[in-house]
Amino acid sequence: MAFGSKEQLDQTLQTAPVTEPARQFFFVDECRKIVQELSEMKGRPLTACVNTFGCQMNAKDSEKLLGILKEIGYQESNSEDSDFVLYNTCTVREHANIRVYGRLGVLKNSKDKNPDMIIALCGCMMQESEVVDKIRKSYRHVDIIFGTYNIYKLAELLYRHFMEHSMQVEILDAAQEMVEDLPSLRKYPFKCGVNIMYGCNNFCSYCIVPYVRGRERSREPEDVLCEIRRLADDGVIEIMLLGQNVNSYAYGFPELLQKVCDIDGIKRIRFMTSHPKDLSDGLIRVIRDNPKIARHIHLPLQSGSSRILREMNRHYTKESYLELAEKIRSNIDGVAITTDLIVGFPGETEEDFQDTLDVVRKAAFDSAFTFLYSKRSGTRAAEMPDQIPKDIANERFNRLLALVTETASHQTLRFVGQDAEVLVEEVNAKDPSFLTGRLSTNHVVHFEGPNDLIGKMVNVHLDEAKGFYYMGTMI
Ligand code: SF4
Repeated sequence: MAFGSKEQLDQTLQTAPVTEPARQFFFVDECRKIVQELSEMKGRPLTACVNTFGCQMNAKDSEKLLGILKEIGYQESNSEDSDFVLYNTCTVREHANIRVYGRLGVLKNSKDKNPDMIIALCGCMMQESEVVDKIRKSYRHVDIIFGTYNIYKLAELLYRHFMEHSMQVEILDAAQEMVEDLPSLRKYPFKCGVNIMYGCNNFCSYCIVPYVRGRERSREPEDVLCEIRRLADDGVIEIMLLGQNVNSYAYGFPELLQKVCDIDGIKRIRFMTSHPKDLSDGLIRVIRDNPKIARHIHLPLQSGSSRILREMNRHYTKESYLELAEKIRSNIDGVAITTDLIVGFPGETEEDFQDTLDVVRKAAFDSAFTFLYSKRSGTRAAEMPDQIPKDIANERFNRLLALVTETASHQTLRFVGQDAEVLVEEVNAKDPSFLTGRLSTNHVVHFEGPNDLIGKMVNVHLDEAKGFYYMGTMI
């Protein structure tokens, strides 16, 4: 269905505001007119599906992208047969890229059936020039491509596509400005992530993030606090402060946390992720003194071997990590510590691996995400000699998983018999007479209760531990 023209685009561009976010609101209005017209012609609302790959950062970006699409007039859908399909991609693992190419092939069939369908790609994978070259050449059915630095420009790129009917590609090499205050569609009405910073300066040798998300940029504290006050007014009670390394927030993370605690209406505050090298005594004190801050610290260890940690460029040792975990546990009552672990990093010996098992035992993690090292081209670790054969890595992975499961189950037992506050999140997936929520420690709890408690804090007696979660009774 043909709409608009190059001339119309030139005219619109002359009247568009130059400053953000006013410019994007302008393009949202322009796109809305077109979507409305299309929808009248088709006799049905247009739908949009956003599929998110990867981490919390991408999940947060997807909420913003869906918010913009909804404002334009699309109805949210989970089906990839939608009129607008967007993949928010991740590139941390190489096989994730291969999966995206596969799915793009399938989307081609859907587009053959519905030629008006718009396919868009964004996220970390698009920051790699080889990827964009390949899509331009071999996946001509893709309509819009943008990267991690300009997600706020979705409406403008969509408008250009409506006018020019050609593939729109805009990838920036670095952040130009942090544009916030655009519409956002929250997955849950009662909890929400808030970005406090973008990018990462750490260059862990296995990680692509600093190359695709750029150097650290912190938002001004007042901007962050304003956003949280608005969310609190809108009924949000739990906030997750987001950054690749929140401990290096430029304006002081403990100070920011303290100010978030002072906001009325916010009952629970989480944050993600904490690099062990930057976690300060000041932060431990603020958490200790403010019960609103979740009793949960995610502290990625990656490896327990000081030698491997050096190769990973992590800037801490086995000993300093254990000291930190001990300091956290002795200062913050009932805190849960969770972690990320990589098995099979290049050069990892059985002795190095034993160090990892040793830290898991001593730090007594409440849970751990375990990953098999996967070679990520473009990183320093991909060039390292002594890549570990798959069978050895797999065997170590299984041993680690068994230990992590045992340690976590043991840790879960310590709260059995206690009463605890639970934020009720949803109806239980298996039994609709049950609700599912989370403790401050991030442990999941299932208990019987009515649906109207969703989004509320309730007190629950923890009757029984089942591995990583609890069965409870509301009191
Ligand atoms: S801290 Fe390391 S692992 Fe985390 S995003 Fe930065 S470079 Fe990647």
